[in-house]
Amino acid sequence: MEAAAEPGNLAGVRHIILVLSGKGGVGKSTISTELALALRHAGKKVGILDVDLCGPSIPRMLQVQGKAVHQCDSGWVPVFVDQEQSISLMSVGFLLEKPDEAVVWRGPKKNALIKQFVSDVAWGQLDYLVVDTPPGTSDEHMAVVDTLRPYSPLGALVVTTPQAVSVGDVRRELTFCKKVGLRVIGVVENMSGFVCPHCAECTNVFSRGGGEELARHAGVPFLGSVPLDPELTRSLEEGRDFIRGFPESPAFPALSCIAQKI
Ligand code: ADP
Repeated sequence: MEAAAEPGNLAGVRHIILVLSGKGGVGKSTISTELALALRHAGKKVGILDVDLCGPSIPRMLQVQGKAVHQCDSGWVPVFVDQEQSISLMSVGFLLEKPDEAVVWRGPKKNALIKQFVSDVAWGQLDYLVVDTPPGTSDEHMAVVDTLRPYSPLGALVVTTPQAVSVGDVRRELTFCKKVGLRVIGVVENMSGFVCPHCAECTNVFSRGGGEELARHAGVPFLGSVPLDPELTRSLEEGRDFIRGFPESPAFPALSCIAQKI
């Protein structure tokens, strides 16, 4: 596991975006993946760093699970997702022997792995590095923030669902950013309403608008609401590129618009 420590490995990265959420299941990995695809679609070179030790799901979402990671002189080589090599991924999932295996290491070992992952991957030149973090605010987040802090601009994108807003998870996430001096790029409300595929009427299954109100209250930008979209779920399950394949689908305009704001 010893890789050559190369502090310049992130030197060619122009923007680093930490994707945070108060709890699991709100769509943090989905938003990370789709924003990376939307940025790639807009002509950007993008890397994704998946340090969600609780559930590294991005390799599956991008259909590259089971790929082996290699080392070169300047560190770990990320896995290229597309033929054009415009999107690359490094995930904790690549180190697990079985995809469903849980990471049961204790804190210090987890933090060491995270630090190594953050600093020892040979990303090359990237316009954006999207970092999918574990849910909540833990030592692991501190490890990520501490390692990335020298590389700027670094910012956080906070994902919530309308119902998560009401239980205060997102507020804690925003407080964490403030405490550690992390700039908040903005809040995204996910699973915000369901657009009927037959009549196009939007039903607010879990209420709507809480994310925007919270962002206003906290004095941070609100980046947009992404509706519940069955086509998006299917694309993620089948590893299809939603951004390229489903421009008519309800979540597409929201995701494209958010990608333009970051
Ligand atoms: P997290 O990373 O926060 O744990 P995931 O990104 O894994 O959450 O999403 C949880 C589930 O919800 C996944 O099955 C994903 O496909 C689905 N999902 C997330 N956002 C949406 C959305 N806007 N529309 C439909 N399904 C979604």
